[in-house]
Amino acid sequence: MKPREPSEARRGRLTGLLLAGAVLLAGLAVVISVYAVMRGAQRENAERVMDQRTEMARAAVQTETERYRSLVETAAAGISTDAGLTWAEFDAATAPLATANLIGAASLAYVVPVRTSDIPAQQALWRSRGASGLELHAAVPTDEHFFSIYTRQLAAQGRPMNGLDVAAAPEAAAALTDARRIGQPSVSDAYVLLRDRNLPAAQQQRSFVFAAPIWTKANTPQFRGWLVLGLRGQDFLTGMLRTVSQNQLDGALLATNRDGRTPVVAEYTVPGRTDLDRTADLVVADRGWTLITRADASHLPGASSRLPLTVLLTGIALAVLLAGLVYVLATGRARAWAKVQEATTDLRAAEEESRRQAGLLGAIMASISDAVGVVDERGAFLLHNPAARDLLGVAEDENDPQEWQKHYGLFRPDGRTPFPVDETPLIRALHGEACDGVEMIVRNDRRPEGVLVSVDGRPLDTSADRHGAVAVFHDITELRRYENDLAVFAGVVAHDLKAPLTVIRGHSEAAVEDLPPGTGVERSLERIILAVDRMAGLIDTLLAYSTARDAPLRLRRVDLGALVAEVVHDRTAHLRPEDHPEITVGELPEVTADPAMLRHVLDNLIGNALKYVRPGTDPRVGVSGVTEHGQARIEVADRGIGIPDDAKDDVFDRFHRAHAEAGYAGTGLGLAICKRIVERHGGEIGVSDNPGGGTRFQFTLPLLKENEMRADHDDAATRAALERALAERAAMENARLPGLSALPAADPSSHDPAAARLRAPVPDHHPRADHE
Ligand code: ATP
Ligand code: MG
Repeated sequence: MKPREPSEARRGRLTGLLLAGAVLLAGLAVVISVYAVMRGAQRENAERVMDQRTEMARAAVQTETERYRSLVETAAAGISTDAGLTWAEFDAATAPLATANLIGAASLAYVVPVRTSDIPAQQALWRSRGASGLELHAAVPTDEHFFSIYTRQLAAQGRPMNGLDVAAAPEAAAALTDARRIGQPSVSDAYVLLRDRNLPAAQQQRSFVFAAPIWTKANTPQFRGWLVLGLRGQDFLTGMLRTVSQNQLDGALLATNRDGRTPVVAEYTVPGRTDLDRTADLVVADRGWTLITRADASHLPGASSRLPLTVLLTGIALAVLLAGLVYVLATGRARAWAKVQEATTDLRAAEEESRRQAGLLGAIMASISDAVGVVDERGAFLLHNPAARDLLGVAEDENDPQEWQKHYGLFRPDGRTPFPVDETPLIRALHGEACDGVEMIVRNDRRPEGVLVSVDGRPLDTSADRHGAVAVFHDITELRRYENDLAVFAGVVAHDLKAPLTVIRGHSEAAVEDLPPGTGVERSLERIILAVDRMAGLIDTLLAYSTARDAPLRLRRVDLGALVAEVVHDRTAHLRPEDHPEITVGELPEVTADPAMLRHVLDNLIGNALKYVRPGTDPRVGVSGVTEHGQARIEVADRGIGIPDDAKDDVFDRFHRAHAEAGYAGTGLGLAICKRIVERHGGEIGVSDNPGGGTRFQFTLPLLKENEMRADHDDAATRAALERALAERAAMENARLPGLSALPAADPSSHDPAAARLRAPVPDHHPRADHE
């Protein structure tokens, strides 16, 4: 379950948001202020530049118009000295103007006033002075006309003006009249020059004329005429502003007419919008002009930089980043706190769970009846349950394994031999060996009667680098006592069963002998005898099985070679001449064992090797032995029918027969007895395929020393009880059936010739033999 978000974390996040918001706002405010200041500075710059540019433009227009005026005036003064001005003199006097680079200037003309009546005479006069082909025609019905006599072209456009009646243009006529009146150069209102009036409408532009009066310098000055400079307004303004504005200024030139109106004479535009404008007044000759300038502030030098925008964007980004950083830092503590809370909750849950597990484990340990003890890697007790305390009968733990034997009173099952500490299941488990069913007797002050326990030990991994061991103790005192009673009971029952069988056999044999031949009853009696023998054999085997488990081990040094030779002899002595078993016996070590029991093992293994061959085949058996790792390993190999793989593990079980269908005689108890005997000697037995065909049985026997030989005290007790019970029964039987008890037991497999050959003789050490 996800833990509820603690209010601390929520508060932390809120604080983080507020702080981050404040930082963002402050950052944005600073950035916007800086941007505004920079933009302001830029605007100021632009205004200043605009002022400068406007002033430059105004000065340029002013200077240039002033120059035109003075040039015309100077030229007029130069001409005034000459009473009869010839074309040549005019040409010479006005030559400097041709190279004066007068922007927008169209032409310069010498204009004289002529009365209508004087036109023919004046025409002749001026023709005579060099105005060849001059024709004077009145253009307006006035008395006085202003005819252009000589003309100097200053621009390519327009037709020549010679002979034009300037009075046809009232604006020019007014300027001429003013100039004559005031004796100073005068400038006209804007109009389309007469010489331009035949141009296409698009090329016509508003223009001016500068008119400078020409007066003689005599004592009584006489008026001669005017020098008139025609100026095209658009060309003039474009020429002026193109240089000054550097393509950043728009401009408009307004002239003040004689009637007070201020029409736009010319306009100069550059592409783009404009947001700055200025108005500048200037004086041109006798009139006032106005120059209007416009510009886009962002295009003016010092105002065109993108720096403020860059600063604005970078500043916003930095403010956002800073706010983010502040949020992360401010909420860091809250997040860490939330993590700690989460971890603490998990930890609590884990602690709760382990407490529950520990409680459960404790309850289980307290409730189970088997004793459990756990030690660490040094053998110190970590844990044991109440059952362990009860079973061992000692209140205090002993943590030094060397002291366990004395402290707890641990003995071998014989009840006398102290149990070696290295063989205790806990120590074996600490060495990594799992062991089951290790029997020992616990006898101490609190348990003076002694308890027989069976102990299982297992290594334990308590943690990655710590090891330990656990042992479970079962009290088997009662169980063993019950088993012993059962064994005694089985022995007595088996023995009791044999007595009536002996009687039946004896009487049957007597009857066969007594009956006259040919009655047909003989066959039935012989079958009875065979059945009795089989039953007696079965009982013998059952007794042998019981003996193998319960009879005391009488250990002594045994010459294995001699024992095998004896068994082989017994197995082959009664064979028919046509049977040729091939038995090879190798070098065999001396071992310490119970000779009678060991004989039973060898007899059964060799007997099996001779028995389980294909009919008509001679058995081949090899017996060999080696000493290795302190123990003897004996091998009985044959070339018989072999044992299927899936039956190999089971042949050591009681009554298990791998070839039951094949008709080989047997009870299936032989190998179970062998296994018991070998294990009671502390060895192991196993079977495998014999390479090349057949079967190979192997068993080991520890090379025990004489002083370590031991006998099982319980077995001894069982044995004593069994002997006592059998003696009583035998006495009773002998009393009832004198003469029959001594009858020999027949071979139970005698109906089967092959099996009869292989039938193992009843071991001579069998306890029953002592009482029969
Ligand atoms: P018993 O020995 O009691 O007279 P048994 O020989 O049948 O009877 P075990 O000696 O216990 O019983 O053998 C068990 C089974 O293992 C046999 O029935 C047989 O099938 C198989 N067996 C034992 N030894 C051999 C062998 N050498 N070759 C082939 N099979 C064998
Ligand atoms: Mg057998």
